[in-house]
This record gives sequence, C-alpha cells and structure tokens, in this order.
Amino acid sequence: MNGNEREKSFVNWFITEKCNFSCEYCSIVNPRGFRKALHRFKRVVKSPSPRKFDIYEELDDILARFEESGMRFTFGFTGGEPFVYPRFREICARIIQHDDFMIALDTNLAIGDMDRFIETVPPEKVEYIFASTHILERERVGGGLDSFLDRVRLLEESGYSVDVNYVMYPPLFDRVNDDYQRCLDRGVRLSIKPFKGVFEGKKYPGSYTGAERDIIRSLRHDSAGEEIGPRSWFGMYCGAGRNLIRVLSNGDVVRCAGDFNLLGNIFTGFRLYESPRPCIAGVCPCYSPEQLVDGRQPAEKFLAIELFNSRLRGRINRLREWWHQQ
Ligand code: SF4
Ligand code: SF4
Repeated sequence: MNGNEREKSFVNWFITEKCNFSCEYCSIVNPRGFRKALHRFKRVVKSPSPRKFDIYEELDDILARFEESGMRFTFGFTGGEPFVYPRFREICARIIQHDDFMIALDTNLAIGDMDRFIETVPPEKVEYIFASTHILERERVGGGLDSFLDRVRLLEESGYSVDVNYVMYPPLFDRVNDDYQRCLDRGVRLSIKPFKGVFEGKKYPGSYTGAERDIIRSLRHDSAGEEIGPRSWFGMYCGAGRNLIRVLSNGDVVRCAGDFNLLGNIFTGFRLYESPRPCIAGVCPCYSPEQLVDGRQPAEKFLAIELFNSRLRGRINRLREWWHQQ
C-alpha cells in the first residue's frame, strides 16, 4: 500500500489559549459563565498548575507516537493564536519533514514572519490556512485590513490554499458589505462564518433574524443551502476519536471539540479508537464532521448509558484542561 492510500486522520491541535487579539466574542480569551468563574476561583486559591511540557523539546517523541498508528496525519493548529506559541514556525518545519505528516493553520495572520514561514514550510505540506479577519481587533491592534490582505496575497501567490473568513458577529451587519467589497477589490473573497456564541443574551447562530440570514446567504458563495443554525449528529456513529482527534493545550488527546473523553496525552501516550462510536454531543462544533458520520445508530438503551458515562468523563476532562491553563 503506498502512502497516499493509508488511512488519514486530522489532529485538531488547540496549541495555546493565548492570543495577540482580544475579540469580544472570543470564549477563550474572554471566557464567560462557568469558565470565567473557575478562572477567578483559580486566581484566588493561587493553585500551581501541573507540570508543563514544551512541544519543541518533546516533538520527536510526540511525532513517534503518531507514527506508531501507521496512519497519515494533518496537524491542524488552532487556539488562541498558534503563532504566539514559542518556536511555532520551527515546530511546523520539523513536523513536515515527515513524509506522512502535513500541517494546517487557523490563524489571525497578524503576527509571525511570513517570509521565513514560506521559506521553511512549503505550500505542498500545508493542507490549508484559515485566516480570520476579526475586523475590530484587526483595526485596533492588528495593523489594519490592508496589511492583512498583503499577507493573504503573499501566501496565495506563493501557492498556499488560504480561506479568509469573517465571523458574522451581530454588530458587524452594518459594515459587512463594505468589508466584503474592500477584500474583493484586492482579489480576496471572504467566507462568511456564522457567529457561535451569545450576544445581548441571545444564543447564535440560532438567533439570527430572517433578514440577517439573507445577508449571510447572499455573501456565502461557498455554501449554497448549507445550514446556518447549529448542527447535530447525536447518537450516530462517528469516526471522531480516530479519523479526527483534538489535542488540548495541556497535551490531552480527546475525541473532538464536542466530546472531551480522554484518549491519552501526546507527552505520555494515547490510544485512538479502533472504530466509529456514537456521537454524544447535543451540538457538533467540529469542522466537516459530515465525512465522519455514517448515519447508523446504536440501541437506545446502550445510547443512554453511553451518553451518561461519556458526558461525565468529558466534564472531568474539561476541568483538568482548565486547571492546567494559566
Ligand atoms: S483571534 Fe481568535 S483566539 Fe484570538 S481573541 Fe480573536 S477569536 Fe479569540
Ligand atoms: S458528530 Fe461532531 S461532536 Fe459528534 S463525535 Fe462526530 S465530530 Fe464529535
């Protein structure tokens, strides 16, 4: 079997919760509710965090653990802002030395030396770059829209696949058409992404009005007919845990962003699931799970027990990750 026929997995790697932006809708940098209360509590009790590993130092051992599975991997870095992580570009450059490994990036593209990145991480080893506009922070601290578009164009002209997205935060409806046109004038077509979060006490994307949905649809060239509201595959068998996994900022490996069941840790060892398992998330927050869900459902009794156990374990693991964070 040649390398390209081997099973593939996507590692959604939440490398850091730190960021050079502070978007007001960001649940990581500006946590709300229970998470915020936990952060306050931790500050008050001044509890030490568990030992932290350095990814650059541990990288050979980490990659060897992935290699053991015999699969091909794309390491999709997200955060926070990945370029904030120490020696991030060098980490990418070392990962792509392996024939079976690629990277992907979810970045605000406001920091990092792009010339050095292009020199050391060639486009054929980068599955995609999601560059987020975050227009308010971009104008406040990120160098402005033009410098962002310069960087996007540089990457595109160098051969990278760049998807430039724009989060449809409700206060931006007044300006989205102008922003869209400004980008288009520079040859960049924005991907409008529904906002997932709470604004003025209302939960989005479920709370968009009909007129707001029409604006989003009119600008979404890449998603004719796609649901704008929350999506759910609860109870159906899904390949996450094997063909998709999530790595948290403390190195814990969990099934996906909707199911925090622990599979191990990249610094000490982990095991992927052998086969698809039922989805236990009420809402799926993951990117493109359609390719992982096969539509089958287990018996209801099994599902109820599995759901209870999985949710309990998932909550404990979320707490572990939070405790590790600064
Ligand atoms: S750029 Fe992303 S991670 Fe950073 S504050 Fe904005 S939404 Fe959060
Ligand atoms: S459907 Fe989504 S939330 Fe459910 S297991 Fe799959 S990736 Fe995770």
